Amino acid sequence: MAAPSVAMDTNHQNNFKLNKTEKKFLRKQSKARHTLLRHEGIGAVSYATQSLVVANGGLGNGVSRKQLLPVLEECGLVDALLMPPNKPYSFVRYQTIEESRKAYVTLNGKEIVDDLGQKIILYLNFVEKAQWKELGLQTLPPGLMVVEEIISSEDEKMLLESVIWIEDTNDQNFQKSLKHRRVKHFGYEFHYENNNIEKDKPLPGGLPDICDNILENWLKKGYIKHKPDQLTINQYEPGHGIPAHIDTHSAFEDEIISLSLGSEIVMDFKHPDGVTVQVMLPRRSLLVMTGEARYLWTHGITPRKFDTVQASEHHKSGLITSDIGDLTLSKRGVRTSFTFRKVRHTPCNCSYPFVCDSQKKETPPSFPESDKEASQLEQEYVHRVYEEIAGHFSNTRHTPWPRIVEFLKALPSGSIVADIGCGNGKYLGINKELYMIGCDRSQKLTDICRERQFQAFVCDALAVPIRSGSCDACISIAVIHHFATAERRVAALQELARLLRPGGKALIYVWAMEQEYNHQKSKYLRGNRISKGKKEEIISDTSMQGSLVDQMGNQDSPSSVSSITDVEEGGCNSRKIANSELPIHTNRTSFQSQDVLVPWHHKGNPGKDKPVEPSSPVEPSSPDPSSVFHRYYHVFCDGELEAACQTLSNVSILQSYYDQGNWCVILQKV
Ligand code: MN
Ligand code: ZN
Repeated sequence: MAAPSVAMDTNHQNNFKLNKTEKKFLRKQSKARHTLLRHEGIGAVSYATQSLVVANGGLGNGVSRKQLLPVLEECGLVDALLMPPNKPYSFVRYQTIEESRKAYVTLNGKEIVDDLGQKIILYLNFVEKAQWKELGLQTLPPGLMVVEEIISSEDEKMLLESVIWIEDTNDQNFQKSLKHRRVKHFGYEFHYENNNIEKDKPLPGGLPDICDNILENWLKKGYIKHKPDQLTINQYEPGHGIPAHIDTHSAFEDEIISLSLGSEIVMDFKHPDGVTVQVMLPRRSLLVMTGEARYLWTHGITPRKFDTVQASEHHKSGLITSDIGDLTLSKRGVRTSFTFRKVRHTPCNCSYPFVCDSQKKETPPSFPESDKEASQLEQEYVHRVYEEIAGHFSNTRHTPWPRIVEFLKALPSGSIVADIGCGNGKYLGINKELYMIGCDRSQKLTDICRERQFQAFVCDALAVPIRSGSCDACISIAVIHHFATAERRVAALQELARLLRPGGKALIYVWAMEQEYNHQKSKYLRGNRISKGKKEEIISDTSMQGSLVDQMGNQDSPSSVSSITDVEEGGCNSRKIANSELPIHTNRTSFQSQDVLVPWHHKGNPGKDKPVEPSSPVEPSSPDPSSVFHRYYHVFCDGELEAACQTLSNVSILQSYYDQGNWCVILQKV
């Protein structure tokens, strides 16, 4: 059985000129790269790493370890050579990047002879990690067991009839129950909003008596080791699901069991590395999760009306393989699950500290070293935070800034204007003569815009789904400073420029490192806040408040009392140290670093920011009213924003100025 080559053509043609040959290899190499990604999910990277995927150098191609290893070792010390069964590729990891780079350069296009004497040409690409996961899903997650026919049909019927679902049609909950699964708790109430239980508040009555005999029987037979004291009954109509989650470690002991009644269902288990295993839970079966399956793998049910199941072993429990010759569909019925857990009274000390809430340490984020780290930092310390504080944030954002209003009012009527990072939409209605559309990374903030009858959608400022050259103007107010690398900030500016038609203008505001500039003092400095007369209040309200700084007291202001000299010493000339911890800014003091975490003291009504519907057990707990959130900022030095704009193609800087602790630029597309 010959497996197909990744790159089909293995002839090599010596009569080409060198650059033609090179071109051909590049083409083949890139083809191999695409094939690997499309068919095998292996993503190559465009930078040098220690590891390479060797297309065509695989067991499935008839290349043995004995043949391949010496070839690879010519380039350096091989740490590992992974050769997956029946695959036309392998992975090699060298001890150093220099060695892997040498292999990349010298072995790409290299011809080797396979076991049958056939010539094979190798194509190499860098990968993040030399790893391979069997996509055939041959085993269940460790610690997982499905016991078929654990109870009789009579017991099933009895259990189902014992559940009384109280439904009050006048209650809003009735509507919810149509859209979401129904839930009932015994022993302890399970709170989906924080995925936990109140250990000191057991529910009266304990577990239903009817369960007692059944549990004793399972204990006796050894299916379970501990007697549970908490029961959650869920009812899933076809189309219902439950998001992927791990049951909170600190809340429950190791063993979690779930009895499936009424109908079978396919449950998805996912390892943090990305391996997904689909497990058939037949009607009247018991799922037992322990160890790795309970602590490390997530489990969830995809909301859908059909499951893909094994055709030949339709009735069988357990693994659903990826054998594409043996799959069919199964229509879901109403499934009722009885999930039994044992409440934990001591902290969890499992072997998976990364996913263990008992063992999790709050490690402060550090300065990003790569684009990936930057993106993760933004996700955690910008996107997630705005989503959490959206309601409170919006309540503090009313007053538009005069010079931004001036910009918008000066635009010709009928102009098409995009507000990239529109927040709660406070600039969207400034000039009724404009066609304004807003976008923001935060779903909740765009929802607020829509409630206010503005046009707004969710998107990332690095990829705005608006046609190039279609805007007469754009504004980007207090957005670019949330990108964590210089490259990403330039990319965000470039994206703004892309939207503009020739002649179109963009107004950009970012926080300034300098909070005092050219005799213009930010009023946010400590002890300098105007708070006496009403008239002064109005001044402060119109000149310094807005989406850039918070109206509520002394938080969220980019201010300092320090002189320019202080600032220069402390920040603009100081070098960033990769992997160094990001400092937490003290509000209303000078910035000690250009890259900082700025605290947001959450004072909002907690109910406003949390979902009304406890839709997901993995939903982060609702913010404590007194909690502090940290947002990442890169505060700009004098000249930095202009310099970034000057790297853009097709734009000229019309104007740049300082406005209340912000650096501002007006660009024009040429
Ligand atoms: Mn669960
Ligand atoms: Zn744990």
